[in-house]
Amino acid sequence: PGLQLPHDDSKKTIAILGSGWGASSLLKGLDTEEWNVVVISPRNYFLFTPLLPSVAVGTLDSRSIIQSTRYITRHKKRAVKVIEAEAQDIDPVAKTITLSDHSPIVGATSTSTINYDYLVYAVGAETQTFGIPGVKEHACFMKELGDAEKFQGQLMDCVETAAFPGQSEEEIDRLLHMVVVGGGPTGIELSGEIHDFLEDDLKSWYPELAERIKITLIEALPSVLPMFSKQLIDYTESTFKDAKIDIKTKTMVKEVKDKSVIVESNGQRHELPMGLLVWAGGNTLRPLTKKLMSYFPSTQTNRRGLSVDNHLRLLVPSTSPDPTGSSSIFALGDCTASSYAPTAQVASQQGAYLARLFGQMAKREKALSRLSELAKADVADPVKDEERKKEIDVIEKQLARAEQQRPFHYSHQGSLAYIGSEKAIADLPFGSGNLATGGVATYLFWRSAYLSTLFSLRNRTLVASDWLKTKIFGRDVSRE
Ligand code: FAD
Ligand code: NAD
Repeated sequence: PGLQLPHDDSKKTIAILGSGWGASSLLKGLDTEEWNVVVISPRNYFLFTPLLPSVAVGTLDSRSIIQSTRYITRHKKRAVKVIEAEAQDIDPVAKTITLSDHSPIVGATSTSTINYDYLVYAVGAETQTFGIPGVKEHACFMKELGDAEKFQGQLMDCVETAAFPGQSEEEIDRLLHMVVVGGGPTGIELSGEIHDFLEDDLKSWYPELAERIKITLIEALPSVLPMFSKQLIDYTESTFKDAKIDIKTKTMVKEVKDKSVIVESNGQRHELPMGLLVWAGGNTLRPLTKKLMSYFPSTQTNRRGLSVDNHLRLLVPSTSPDPTGSSSIFALGDCTASSYAPTAQVASQQGAYLARLFGQMAKREKALSRLSELAKADVADPVKDEERKKEIDVIEKQLARAEQQRPFHYSHQGSLAYIGSEKAIADLPFGSGNLATGGVATYLFWRSAYLSTLFSLRNRTLVASDWLKTKIFGRDVSRE
């Protein structure tokens, strides 16, 4: 109902929710010939999240790390319908998605409903705030492109306001205190980037203020980057110490106010005045994911995310009304709870796996329809009938082999993070062990690894030229 798609009634419809790592990797590998494919996402582009902190300080331009979803789907055998909208609800029994889009140009919200045969649920996660007072109101986040752009504007606002004549010494120090909450890779990479901006650019343009800019990283746990090896944690902490980034571990943020943050450490509360606070406190489920889980209360019990089987099918009760006998919903990436970390690496491998799985399913659907044609055929000629039986035999054997779809297998390529001062850290699988490396050479490796992982030649060219521009001319300190 509702929406007209480039629809072929003889083919089944795959609806993909999201245009992030999981969804885009699926779209890249998916053979659309045998399916109607529709992508629904509130943003009509893919965002290369690993380089988002670089956009936040202007090392890279926003447009360099995004790629329109239509660019990814443009060469597909059959056209893919891309709809810029947010899925509001999913009815897993009727197999429908209700979606809506608010258009400021129309000044209204449009709503529609579409049918699916298979749903690929890849909506990612949102930032966890633990309901801590003031976070949503006063903090910046570092999840979407708009967050990085907002941060850039606010950072320059703090600096320009501190430069305004007549500010008190106390107010200047407050405005120039940048607080990052969360010692995971997002918080660490952002702190490193702010430090680079300060050293490379702000010191030249605002010499009277630059020495007073302070960066504080707050982490509740005893150390930062718990997913990295101990020696890389130590290396990061000593690099931050040299860079005068103050790491406060075992310190929990309790409240964020508009001009200060309340922290607790060793059972004592302190109030730290700040100009800008970025919240990088980890992931939590989107409301839509919680809603989807509520349809299957007996199987969807993990509070971290959707439970899926090893073919990425949503775990549903065996009594679930599903004509195929198995779930028609697949879920991948940050919205799922699995033994893997919620990373781009996992989501993109899962997307590529699903593309292969749908390829196998298309072959199976084709074989089944040929089988039913052959079974119905009334062949009088005994020679032709023999051929028909042989073909049935071949197809049945093919189908039996196709039943054994391989489960998803994650291949870890290593963990990489930029820590500022032209240094990066990497934990790389090496033989049966691990190679932990940090420094300038690892930074060059980090750059080349991300350059080659970028989705398109266009992105690679833009990012490489932004790096060159920044090296030659520095970052732009103008405020948009
Ligand atoms: P996402 O990529 O977040 O995509 C979710 C998509 O769903 C988005 O397009 C969103 O618009 C869409 N969506 C949201 N709500 C709806 C809705 N209601 N209906 C339809 N669509 C919806 N991982 C690494 O492995 N290496 C890194 O270096 C790295 N760096 C990172 C740096 C930063 C700053 C951040 C924030 C994350 C980083 N990650 C990194 C983690 C990585 O980005 C995530 O694990 C990855 O994005 C997960 O992919 P996903 O497809 O599940 O979700
Ligand atoms: P995270 O979950 O890794 O880290 C969040 C940190 O915030 C935690 O260490 C937590 O203890 C801390 N925290 C939460 N509430 C706090 C509070 N009130 N006070 C003080 N500290 C608090 O989150 P992330 O860094 O955004 O990463 C999310 C996911 O994305 C992870 O799986 C990560 O591996 C992945 N990621 C990877 C890279 C990379 O590989 N370079 C970069 C960014 C993100």
